[in-house]
Amino acid sequence: MIAEKYKEMLNGKSVIRTLSEKATARGKEIGYENVFDYSLGNPSVPVPQVFTDAMIKMLQEKNPMELHGYSPTLGIPSVKEKIAASLNRRFGVPYIKEDIFPTTGAAGAIAHAVRAVTMDGDEVLTFAPYFPEYNPYINLSGAKLKIVPADTDSFQINFDAFEKLLTEKVAAVLINTPNNPSGAVYSTETIQKLASVMSRKAEQFGHPIYLISDEPYREIVFAGVDAPYVARYYANTLTCYSFSKSLSLPGERIGYVAVNPACENAELIVQMCGQISRGTGHNCPSSLMQLAVAEVIDSTADLSVYETNMNLLYTELKELGFSCVKPGGTFYIFPKALEEDAAAFCEKALKYDLVLVPADSFGCPGYFRMAYCIDTEKVERSLKALRKFVKTEYR
Ligand code: PLP
Repeated sequence: MIAEKYKEMLNGKSVIRTLSEKATARGKEIGYENVFDYSLGNPSVPVPQVFTDAMIKMLQEKNPMELHGYSPTLGIPSVKEKIAASLNRRFGVPYIKEDIFPTTGAAGAIAHAVRAVTMDGDEVLTFAPYFPEYNPYINLSGAKLKIVPADTDSFQINFDAFEKLLTEKVAAVLINTPNNPSGAVYSTETIQKLASVMSRKAEQFGHPIYLISDEPYREIVFAGVDAPYVARYYANTLTCYSFSKSLSLPGERIGYVAVNPACENAELIVQMCGQISRGTGHNCPSSLMQLAVAEVIDSTADLSVYETNMNLLYTELKELGFSCVKPGGTFYIFPKALEEDAAAFCEKALKYDLVLVPADSFGCPGYFRMAYCIDTEKVERSLKALRKFVKTEYR
């Protein structure tokens, strides 16, 4: 016998991956530079020089047994200390090294966080539009993912719908800010309201409701945007972070869970993560990568291109009559399609070599996502294709 649940998943191939494959195939015909591929969230700027320099120095000077040996189960203490100190300095939350658990990216962080605070059959709520990989992340843990419909006016939180779905069965709420796919950043007001509703319901139900805050885009926030640090507002917060986007290191698979020191059972949760990793096989993330990111803990890649690209696209989309909330961060923009069926809309766009992703699988039908982590020069050229597409198909 083979495992049916994984076999069944083969029928639900990721729309994003499928479109990215189409873009690559089209690139072989006409040159990839002529395909306006807005499908994949793969950072387009190189890792910063400080990171490369730190790697070279470590490889030349450090003991190879330390660099390439197994990490301790709970992570390398000196690395955890640097992460805790950085979070403390930047956001004023008094983390200590015992609150930090290094993981294989944000995916690994969520895998641990959800297992630590849910039991089989418990519900985890998240808000549309949401990252489709949350389905396997949560559902294969034994918990069940439930989706709160979107607030399409602002892509903040639809609190009426949230309160209805926040029943006794909910063990955790999973948020993602700055958000993939909407680009929205939850405001202080939103986070305060979320914290207040969750605290009230937790008290009513007589059990904690944990907040899992998925923050791989924390460093990609645009000028003037209010981007509160979520854990400051809710004690029972597990922050899931990744260096994939901030340092442009997605292939290195490195991130962490930071358990708020004020969280119920904080110390136990981190220790439990060590046990969870034994079961998931996501144990002992690369020692070399833990040490390398700790060397450049407050640095990022040059992320400014994302805001430049966003402004170009936002202005053009609005001029063309799209309804679109201006992103506050990330490298995604999330307009409403010009017909009800976003999949049909995106299919037509392909004729103009525009690769756009319909948002049905993000829990928000009728919208589409553009991942503008591409060169600005290409974004500029794509505007002409976008204008031609809209004017030919919808005027
Ligand atoms: N969460 C969100 C919202 C993401 O967009 C991604 C990756 O694109 C992840 C988690 C996974 O991040 P990582 O590649 O660091 O595991």
